[in-house]
Parts: sequence; C-alpha cells; structure tokens
Amino acid sequence: MPKDSFAKEVAADRMHRLFDLAQQRTEKDDGASRKLAKRYIRIAKEISSHYKVSMPKQIKERICRKCGNVLIPGLNCRVRLASSKGYAAYICECGTERHVFYK
Ligand SMILES: [Zn+2]
Repeated sequence: MPKDSFAKEVAADRMHRLFDLAQQRTEKDDGASRKLAKRYIRIAKEISSHYKVSMPKQIKERICRKCGNVLIPGLNCRVRLASSKGYAAYICECGTERHVFYK
C-alpha cells in the first residue's frame, strides 16, 4: 500500500531527526538538556512502535536500553573492546552494557 509506505518513510525521517536533536542535547551536558534528550528518544521509540517501523540499526546501537541515554564515549559511556569475541561493549553510566559487533 503506497500510503502506508509513505507514513513509514516519514516515521523513519522523524526518528532520525529526533536522534540528531537528542545527540546535540546530550553533548551540551547539563541537566535540562539531558532530560530533553531522553524525551526525544522516548518519542522516537513511540513513533517506532506506533508505525511498526523498526528503529534504524545505527540509531539503536547508540541508545541505552535501560535509561534512554544517547551513548557518547567519553561523556556518558565507556567502551570496552572484547576483540576475541568480536564486539565493543558500550557501558552506560547507569551500568547497562550494549554489545556492538564489528565482525
Ligand atoms: Zn543507561
């Protein structure tokens, strides 16, 4: 259905836009901006579930599952390389790990 695919296209665009805004807000690194960034991520997740569009992989890998932080190494997360297992572990300040495979 062309109408349906257009809605999904717009939804994907909005998720990208919200992620970019959240990233900018997180980089500002003050309380109000962090709160706003988490709100943007929550809205992007709601768009994803409402329009049944999966969150793009490059966005999904950069968000904490538990707290919704945009993971920025050196600012709010640590990166540990598990080279024998072929992944990088992004450890959020809340303690949650996200494994990103590079093999
Ligand atoms: Zn977290």
